[in-house]
Amino acid sequence: MAAAIMAARQGAQVTILEHMDRVGKKLLSTGNGRCNLTNLSMESGCYHCSQPGFPMKAIRCFDVGHTLGFLEELGIMVKSKNGYIYPNSEQASAVLDLFRLELLRLQIQSITGCQVKQLHSKKGQRFFAVTDQGGFSGDALILAAGSKAAPATGSDGSGYRLAERFGHKVITPLPALVQLCCEGRHFKQLAGVRCEAEISLFCAGKRLSSALGEVQLTEYGVSGIPTFQVSRFASTSLEKKKPVEIALDFLPAKSQEETEQFLKKRALQMPHLEIEDFLTGVLHKKLAAVLVKLSHIPARQAAADVPQDAWERLARQIKSFQAAVSATKSFEHAQVCCGGVDTRDILPETMESKLVPGLYLAGELLDVDGICGGYNLQWAWTSGCLAGIHAGSPNRLPHRK
Ligand SMILES: Cc1cc2nc3c(=O)[nH]c(=O)nc-3n(C[C@H](O)[C@H](O)[C@H](O)COP(=O)(O)OP(=O)(O)OC[C@H]3O[C@@H](n4cnc5c(N)ncnc54)[C@H](O)[C@@H]3O)c2cc1C
Repeated sequence: MAAAIMAARQGAQVTILEHMDRVGKKLLSTGNGRCNLTNLSMESGCYHCSQPGFPMKAIRCFDVGHTLGFLEELGIMVKSKNGYIYPNSEQASAVLDLFRLELLRLQIQSITGCQVKQLHSKKGQRFFAVTDQGGFSGDALILAAGSKAAPATGSDGSGYRLAERFGHKVITPLPALVQLCCEGRHFKQLAGVRCEAEISLFCAGKRLSSALGEVQLTEYGVSGIPTFQVSRFASTSLEKKKPVEIALDFLPAKSQEETEQFLKKRALQMPHLEIEDFLTGVLHKKLAAVLVKLSHIPARQAAADVPQDAWERLARQIKSFQAAVSATKSFEHAQVCCGGVDTRDILPETMESKLVPGLYLAGELLDVDGICGGYNLQWAWTSGCLAGIHAGSPNRLPHRK
């Protein structure tokens, strides 16, 4: 939609081919229905790509300032929550409404229920789409068919096949921003616990990523934003059949030594407390019970009778609760994909294909994935608007009749 709007604003006649019954369906589920549009803090570390400099090169051409201007032109009043940008109404549906109204104003034709089955071009000068509603042709083509994440919203991965037909390479798409399934019988007991923690993800003993925030413990493993942030590294490592582990730190503000000291001091202050009640008010009750059990301290032992070396064991469990990751949840549960069309064959300033002039690729279809916090929509706005501006520019298309 962003690409179509920008192309039409350059004077191009634009048609959107969309196989769902309406355009922009995925937007409705973003930010839990509130749509985290972008983020004022934009750094290279917020994006992952096999060609690391690529996302920021493009974002510098159409940055957050351009995006806020673009959203304002559409009539979207925004607000910042610590730099996280939302529509003032906190309704994703309002964002979609304003996009659709702009499509109408610019007389952009949206053909819905229209599955694009094949795409081809004649010497990059004329593009043809074969769909279940007949053929379409145009001077330029923007492929923005999304990834394989959340296929119920329309992104079924067919865009990868369409890009491959033009000679583009696709780096295996894998679920990202997704829950992790873990081994260990304790998760059943921990289901429902939400707590502030730091999650670290290890592959073959090497720490690949960490994130801090509200972790959710579930029957199958872990969820919540910090889990999503590290999940792409689990996906890529598991794909290579490498062992993946997580470690949860339930008192991230304290070091291992400080935690041990804290426990010993608490035992002196409250020697009468049985160990099963000892962490009440410090950690969630269910979590405390599991950590105490893993430290091999009898539940009914009074704090005063706990041997000194047991405090070290308990501190270690609190600071580094470990579990092997057996899998990620599937594409159905993922917010985005890592992998996608290889960006080495795309010009970051315009999103034009280096292989087929006149072909543009944008959005999550590309091998770019952002962390949680508005970064994936920012990528959609940046790449979509750049593609639209350049595909729709009369100067770029001298052969237009
Ligand atoms: C639950 C959830 C919450 C999210 N929350 C946020 C958030 O708050 N902030 C954020 O930045 N990001 C968020 N994201 C990610 C963000 O929504 C996506 O990165 C973004 O929508 C990608 O835009 P896109 O246009 O590339 O792809 P999509 O939005 O997937 O659009 C692709 C379109 O192409 C259509 N299509 C695909 N194949 C064909 C075909 N063969 N023929 C015709 N049409 C086709 C699809 O139906 C779809 O409408 C969230 C994602 C999910 C799933």
